[in-house]
Amino acid sequence: MSEAEARPSNFIRQIIDKDLADGKHTGIHTRFPPEPNGYLHIGHAKSICLNFGLAQDYQGQCNLRFDDTNPAKEDIEYVESIKEDVNWLGFKWDGDICYSSNYFDALYGYAVELIEKGLAYVDELTPDEIREYRGSLKEPGKNSPYRDRSVEENLALFEKMRAGGFEEGKACLRAKIDMASSFIVMRDPVIYRVRFIEHHQTGNQWCIYPMYDFTHCISDALEGITHSLCTLEFQDNRRLYDWVLENITIDCQPHQYEFSRLNLEYTVMSKRKLNQLVTEKLVNGWDDPRMPTISGLRRRGFTPGSIREFCSRIGVTKQENMIEFGSLEACIREDLNENAPRAMAVLDPVKVIIENVENDETLTIANHPNKPEMGSREVPFTREIFIEADDFREEANKKYKRLVLGKEVRLRGAYVIQANRIEKDSDGNITTIFCSYDPETLGKNPADGRKVKGVIHWVSATKGITADIRLYDRLFTVPNPGAADDFAATINPDSLVVKKGVVEPSLVDAEAGAGIQFERTGYFCIDAKDSSKENLVFNRTVGLRDTWAKIDDQ
Ligand code: ATP
Ligand code: MG
Repeated sequence: MSEAEARPSNFIRQIIDKDLADGKHTGIHTRFPPEPNGYLHIGHAKSICLNFGLAQDYQGQCNLRFDDTNPAKEDIEYVESIKEDVNWLGFKWDGDICYSSNYFDALYGYAVELIEKGLAYVDELTPDEIREYRGSLKEPGKNSPYRDRSVEENLALFEKMRAGGFEEGKACLRAKIDMASSFIVMRDPVIYRVRFIEHHQTGNQWCIYPMYDFTHCISDALEGITHSLCTLEFQDNRRLYDWVLENITIDCQPHQYEFSRLNLEYTVMSKRKLNQLVTEKLVNGWDDPRMPTISGLRRRGFTPGSIREFCSRIGVTKQENMIEFGSLEACIREDLNENAPRAMAVLDPVKVIIENVENDETLTIANHPNKPEMGSREVPFTREIFIEADDFREEANKKYKRLVLGKEVRLRGAYVIQANRIEKDSDGNITTIFCSYDPETLGKNPADGRKVKGVIHWVSATKGITADIRLYDRLFTVPNPGAADDFAATINPDSLVVKKGVVEPSLVDAEAGAGIQFERTGYFCIDAKDSSKENLVFNRTVGLRDTWAKIDDQ
């Protein structure tokens, strides 16, 4: 990874530095533990960059572990997409992929150990009763009538749970800790429950599944994780994390540290809400380019480097905050400004006939204004071309530096043209602009010294290619849609506008997803799913400038 991506220090790195200096660890081992119940989003990218980034920087290891203890919501499709996204972001996990479900036998054994030590019991209260008995922040909970069963009875009942002898909700295994604890997670948390659901990894082998808090710490310890990094909402759960590991026979004592999650304006990050957008067809799938998912950003034209750069800029702290959407866009804009080849596309075409052009010709235009190493391309210049309707006016003041009737403008990479007359349809819309060109102005100013100010882009009308051009904008109209009563009601109705445009022929061969700057218009890429040579589809990644900055300031 480049110098520019070197990560600044943060509180977690300080902890690691100290642990290494004190000899507490000789190396570090982190993990990224997604639950395969949805596609990864930009918030996960923060966690990925942190965990994999630390392992890289400290020459340690980072595991990819699927935290798959809730088969009701999980799916192999999510497992596959997560692997692809982690790879695409530029990271490699150490060793084989891990699954919490790999440890189901071990976890069962540790549950039995807790029972044998009198630290876990089978409860037959209903889920509602368990909630009721748990108390609140103000009131202590009360003990379940099943709490004082003998070890033998608990062992037999837990075995019965495993054998399918209890219906769902009729029995669960709970840790026996303290119903009066000021930490609600410590009030005899449920550690196993009955679920007659097939699991994507273990099939029908199990009808009891361990809960997150019991599974996560043991999985960390079994994998030799040193620093278990998670988001702040798990702060209280750290008590339970430590309690479990202190009360079972296991060698390794990993530690959990919490950091603040990424919140990004104008989007939602909860997988439940993202799932809702997909299932209610409010977007076109998890990889809709408006989604904050890694796959959506990829399809939108974001590069892995721009996302890593974003994660590096936002840093890692314990402060809750909300990041402006513009800071994510700035990262991709900077990347593409440097690296994207230029091309021309007209989104709202109006025809121009250059009457004194006799023969078509082929012009050679540089792919990047400051990077000759990026080469050049051939662009047909023909008698009929398209320009943007917006780039022509019958009359205009001096501030308007585009084409005006009776005046001149330069065509990017080509000649100076002058508008002589126009034709309109019966509704008064301009259908054709008749022009003439000055054949002596290719790559040079007019010989007589007259000044031509504006430069506009254009595409050959006879050799250009029509394309669907999707203009994407923010998916929501409010900065914090997650806080709205009905977040779906705040969807931006203009978040997708499709233009029938014309692009220069060189773009037929553009690689899907690779960024291109359409001169004067924005950064675009070929859509990886819907585009074909016969039917080109481009996605707008980001505009040339931050048009929302002004709106936000008003
Ligand atoms: P859910 O929305 O289903 O509760 P989650 O967002 O916690 O799930 P996981 O699959 O459990 O999703 O997340 C994997 C890892 O990514 C966890 O360590 C989690 O803390 C981290 N993570 C998730 N969302 C964010 C976020 N917005 N910012 C930073 N890290 C995140
Ligand atoms: Mg989670």
